[in-house]
Amino acid sequence: MPAPMMDTYSPPDLVFDHGKGARLYTEDGASYLDFISGIAVNCLGHAHPKAVAALTEQAGKLWHLSNMFKVPKGVELAKKLTDATFADRVFFTNSGAEAMECALKTARRYQFVNGNPQRYRIITFTGAFHGRTYGAINAGGNPKYLEGFGPAMEGFDQVEFGDLDAVKNAITEETAAICVEPVQGEGGVRAPEDSFLRGLRQLCDENGLMLIYDEVQSGAGRTGKLFAHQWVDGAEPDIMAAAKGIGGGFPMGACLATEAAAEGMVVGTHGSTYGGGPLAMAVGNVVFDELTSDGFMDHVVEVSNFLRQQLHGLMDRHADKIVEVRGKGLLVGIKLKEGYDPKMLGALARERNLLVGAAGDNVSRMAPPLIITKEDASEAVSILDEALGVLQKS
Ligand code: PLP
Repeated sequence: MPAPMMDTYSPPDLVFDHGKGARLYTEDGASYLDFISGIAVNCLGHAHPKAVAALTEQAGKLWHLSNMFKVPKGVELAKKLTDATFADRVFFTNSGAEAMECALKTARRYQFVNGNPQRYRIITFTGAFHGRTYGAINAGGNPKYLEGFGPAMEGFDQVEFGDLDAVKNAITEETAAICVEPVQGEGGVRAPEDSFLRGLRQLCDENGLMLIYDEVQSGAGRTGKLFAHQWVDGAEPDIMAAAKGIGGGFPMGACLATEAAAEGMVVGTHGSTYGGGPLAMAVGNVVFDELTSDGFMDHVVEVSNFLRQQLHGLMDRHADKIVEVRGKGLLVGIKLKEGYDPKMLGALARERNLLVGAAGDNVSRMAPPLIITKEDASEAVSILDEALGVLQKS
């Protein structure tokens, strides 16, 4: 009998029953320290009491309406998001890829309604990841994700991540926008220089282009600011995709835009049956309120500095296996030397009850819940220490 699910994933033989805070538990009570949180999603940890209360209360009242009717909690969350960011307008989605689709459409539409329909091309970057829809795999440009899905979609020009001159040279009369992750996740947890984002902003201003940020992974407090680009002055986008952490584990995403950028997104231009539904909006408001509560971001900064310091110690102890500790805030990468496999390191950590992920560029990825303590960080590092001690070349 073939397995009933498509073979698109290869999970280990390990089944979790429930979670609490930064821990996951199997049915027989074994506990695991979760340092990946569903790949940067469960920012408040598992079963956060306020999120559970908001979801269960809403579940007893109203699940779904579609956007034929107003969802007051959606308007409330959109107001919070616009008050806290560069944006004036929000479109809610169910996922990061959908938020990206809306962002790409919004950029092209901006050019269209401003008399430049010929401007449709979007500059993207090596190592990018924007999701798995047809538009998003083409924006990401990773050949591994494009193979076998027909001709590549027209309209994306990929240049080297971090290379402003390459961007400048790629701009033509047909360019509509530049799209970038302020910290690349999937591509190897790579944070560019601040000057790179500022340079992109400047190029967009000089050439009438939209600047799109994909903050699906780097946003929602992950780096110690609500959105990662907020660390950099003078580098605000026109359009931004968010998802993952903003729902704290309930599926939701959002495309944020300035008034000018959203000008073309009028009735009938875009839609989603479920996006912005009552359940997601109930949870989204709680997550936002927690992320922006007094001291929350200070905690993220403090604990991430502590973790980074510990990881540098780990790198000193395993200089034969670790090349670099990288990332920003609690989006952390450990780049391994050639021949050492981050997936194998993840498996060794899992055998020792620690969950971490892997990313491109031979990087072991950590994106723990933002509520982890320094004790959690020390525990994770000591497990990694042990795992690295036995890690062999593959
Ligand atoms: N953009 C970035 C930067 C991501 O990291 C991801 C997912 O990992 C996506 C987009 C796609 O999000 P989703 O899987 O929710 O569609």
